[in-house]
Amino acid sequence: MMTRRRFSGSLRVRFLVVFGALAVVPLVATAFILGGWTADRLEEQSVALQREVAGGVASQIDSLLTERATELALLDSVFGLGAASADDQRAMLRQLAAAEPMYIDIAVVDSDGQETIRVASASVVLATDLRVRTDDPAYVTAVELRDTGFGSVVFNDGLREPVMSIAEPILDRRSGEVDSVVLATITFKPVWELLGSLAAPEQDVYVVDADGVIVAHKDPTVVLLKTPIEIPGDGSRTTGLNGEPAVAAASEVPLGGDRLVVLAEEPLDVALAVANRSAAVTLAVTAFALLAVIGALVVVTHKVVRPIQEVAASARRLARGDRSRLIAARGNDEITELAVAFNQMTLQLSDLIENLEARVAERTSEIEAGTKLQQELIAELEVKNAELVVVKEQLEELVRAKDEFLGAVSHELRTPLTSVVGFASLIRDHRADLADDERGEMVERIVDQAQDMADIINDLLVAARVEGGSLIVQPETIDVRDAVERVAGTMRDETIDLTDHAHDVTAYADPVRLRQILRNLLVNGIRYGEGNVEVAVGRSAEVAVVEVRDHGAGVPRDQWEAIFDPYRRAANNTDHPASVGLGLSVSRSLARGMGGDLTYRYEDGMSVFTLTLPLTPHAADEAAGVGGRTGR
Ligand code: ADP
Repeated sequence: MMTRRRFSGSLRVRFLVVFGALAVVPLVATAFILGGWTADRLEEQSVALQREVAGGVASQIDSLLTERATELALLDSVFGLGAASADDQRAMLRQLAAAEPMYIDIAVVDSDGQETIRVASASVVLATDLRVRTDDPAYVTAVELRDTGFGSVVFNDGLREPVMSIAEPILDRRSGEVDSVVLATITFKPVWELLGSLAAPEQDVYVVDADGVIVAHKDPTVVLLKTPIEIPGDGSRTTGLNGEPAVAAASEVPLGGDRLVVLAEEPLDVALAVANRSAAVTLAVTAFALLAVIGALVVVTHKVVRPIQEVAASARRLARGDRSRLIAARGNDEITELAVAFNQMTLQLSDLIENLEARVAERTSEIEAGTKLQQELIAELEVKNAELVVVKEQLEELVRAKDEFLGAVSHELRTPLTSVVGFASLIRDHRADLADDERGEMVERIVDQAQDMADIINDLLVAARVEGGSLIVQPETIDVRDAVERVAGTMRDETIDLTDHAHDVTAYADPVRLRQILRNLLVNGIRYGEGNVEVAVGRSAEVAVVEVRDHGAGVPRDQWEAIFDPYRRAANNTDHPASVGLGLSVSRSLARGMGGDLTYRYEDGMSVFTLTLPLTPHAADEAAGVGGRTGR
């Protein structure tokens, strides 16, 4: 928010500065340059004027005094005052005093300083009024320098006006020594009048003596103050009589060894009035220009800054992702063009962003679908992997079982083979020593052992066919009891009890396969049981039944089914390490192949194997679905 304000404000400020500078700077600069220049010129002109006035007044005073001095000198040089009688002298003096009103009195003073004659223009001078004038500076100068002497301008209280003495020496024509002095007192009033007659009212012109005391001024009260002032330098700025700054010029009136100074001054503000007026005008114009700038700024803000601010605000909205608002474009200037271009840019940007968003969404869903597929594949792979693990375990189990099987088969085969070889060797080596019945028995044993081997190999063959799916049975209607008797008959030295639960029990079965099953069951009964093996033949409504029982320890309950798996032996079967574990598996496969079944249970301390067989071909087909009838 702060940033926004600073930005929007800066444009206005910049406009104000630029406009202000354009309007005010040239004015102020011109005023400074021209004002300074004018002031200098005015001051110079004022100085020149003051100098002119002072010089004019000084020369007039000079001529006044010179005229008086000349008149006094002429009294002797022309009219022979020094050699004249006292009466003539008095007459001469009276004539002069009457002719020139500046003279207050004129006296003849002897070389001792004693007045011998004095005439006054306004009074009668008695002999007793004559004075000694040795203290008059004009007299002293005239005696000592033998030249015109001027006294100081002093205020005569009786006359209430300033007066001045002028002395002219009268020299002895022979010795050249000062014989006497003509000493006149003149009024300074004409100078006052001269100063008063000067026209300019603001101008101040006055005369000061060597001590800086004002001796002439158009205003007599100023003279009466008798205050000494510091004589300013010629043509310099100074402090005027009224205490204000002023421009002054001075001009000297030389009076022999003494002097008077005429001063003319003008107040500075009067001298520089024109410059001050022009400064005031400049100020007014500058103020007006500033007002005009502010007015212009308002217009410019409205016409220029606001549209630009609108563009800036729109750009900010755009940056925040709000593309809904466009700028109102009015008029046909460059700013409108900018607004239109900005709007177009906004629209294009909106399109672009929408496009991009759509593509991003598309890609996202693709990726999600891909991820889902990947996850499904992974899940499938995991399932397959688990299956593979199971398969691997099964394979390992199989390999292990196969190794065991190979060992067992070798052992199983070697046992009867050893007997066969042993008896055959006996017969071959001791044929003559053996009685006929002994020889016959040995041959019987050889046949039995060979039969055992043939049975084992037969089992292996059937198992291989079962696994390969090529087991074929050739059933026919046979007598079950007959089949049992034939098998039991081959079991020599063993006690097998046969019980009939029904007469003439027939079944639809392959006689060879049935014998193989019965042989396996009887051999197991003899091998794992104790005492007699009991065989019962019977029949139910649907099947022929053969039950083989023995009194052995049996199979643990949880393995009643497992003993029918190929290469499996019950866990408690440790007395017969060489057993192969194929007999029951092959027997069940054969039974089922013929449409029957083979199961195990342990009942009343006895192992019971139950073999069922179909009674008719139809039942056999229904139960087993056996198709082939040829080949073993
Ligand atoms: P084999 O007898 O060669 O081991 P079988 O398939 O004939 O193979 O038997 C499988 C297993 O079942 C035997 O190893 C044995 O543990 C058990 N078995 C079979 N018949 C009997 C029985 N009558 N009594 C106890 N256990 C038996």
